[in-house]
Amino acid sequence: MTETYEKIKWPNNARCAVMLSFDLDGNTIWANGNRSYPGGENFIRSISIGDYGPKRAVPRILDLLAKYALPATFFTPAKIVEENPALLKQIDQAGHEIGHHGYQHERFVDLTRDEQKAIILRSQDIFQQIIGKKARGYRTPSGDWSRETAGLLHELGFLYSSSMRGDDRPYRTVIDGQVTDFIEMAPKWDLDDFVQFGYNLFPAEPAGQDRISGIEQVYNNFKQEFDGYYQYGLCFVLLMHPQIIGKPGRLLMLEQLLQHMKSHQDIWFATGEEIAEWWRANY
Ligand SMILES: [Zn+2]
Repeated sequence: MTETYEKIKWPNNARCAVMLSFDLDGNTIWANGNRSYPGGENFIRSISIGDYGPKRAVPRILDLLAKYALPATFFTPAKIVEENPALLKQIDQAGHEIGHHGYQHERFVDLTRDEQKAIILRSQDIFQQIIGKKARGYRTPSGDWSRETAGLLHELGFLYSSSMRGDDRPYRTVIDGQVTDFIEMAPKWDLDDFVQFGYNLFPAEPAGQDRISGIEQVYNNFKQEFDGYYQYGLCFVLLMHPQIIGKPGRLLMLEQLLQHMKSHQDIWFATGEEIAEWWRANY
């Protein structure tokens, strides 16, 4: 029987790649949402949902990753880097990657090219100053990015993005009709913890309300999807938010999922940077 499906060759004959990613948004997403309400700057409770991420969740997540010796990528708005320098240094020193995620989680689709560039560069300066290096990876904050964003990131020397949705293998981004060495590793909505669990009563999140999925159900979804990625030898990008997945019970679920993945010997757990470098060199 001929094989019509071209299997990806991963390093060390691994069968599939796993990119554990955390969007360390802190309160930026809530502050941005509150701004559309009169007096929204006083909505302190929703801000505190975001503060839970850097304050309580990240240290536990770092411990969990260390327990299983797993690398991860933390996409962090530069404002959160500025406000939590010790934590971000700790993430970096633990061997994880810190990626670009705007200054305060801006919607790039609403911004001009120059405005986007200013945010990217300002944030890179903060990364350089606090972590000692610039980000090489980018994940678009809320909403979409604009038609210029990929070209801008490529021009500014970024290696990769993890922002789109349309593939389960990494790929070279086409910019202005040219295939480039700017790599994309697309996450998925169904592999995003915020879509499963993100909730606020007022301002309503999600808008029509009704979400906070059962933990077992989410575990089964993530596991089933991982099993499929493993079967087909793909690049599994799990998109998590410390403020969401870092709650005590959900962390037990994440640990169970990590154990399931680690029960296979042939998984390549890697940062976004490592996967993108591999793809650039081999595909
Ligand atoms: Zn985010």
